Amino acid sequence: MQTPQPDAHAQGGRCRLCSANDVDALVEELAAELWKYQSVGTLDESPWDQASEYWRHVFRQFAATAVKTMQARH
Ligand SMILES: [Zn+2]
Repeated sequence: MQTPQPDAHAQGGRCRLCSANDVDALVEELAAELWKYQSVGTLDESPWDQASEYWRHVFRQFAATAVKTMQARH
């Protein structure tokens, strides 16, 4: 997962959090990353693209909430 680049703002540009049309991709990437760091043995241990619809939904909700929070504060 990449963190937003401060330079993008300093140069008058927009980072990934600023570009609204990138949000879905960002949420998907973040959800996959969160999934990767789940506690092994506690949940479905499948790779992200093979995880159950239930967990994919739950982690996308986490990711979407995190992205919204970061967009509001960065
Ligand atoms: Zn930004």
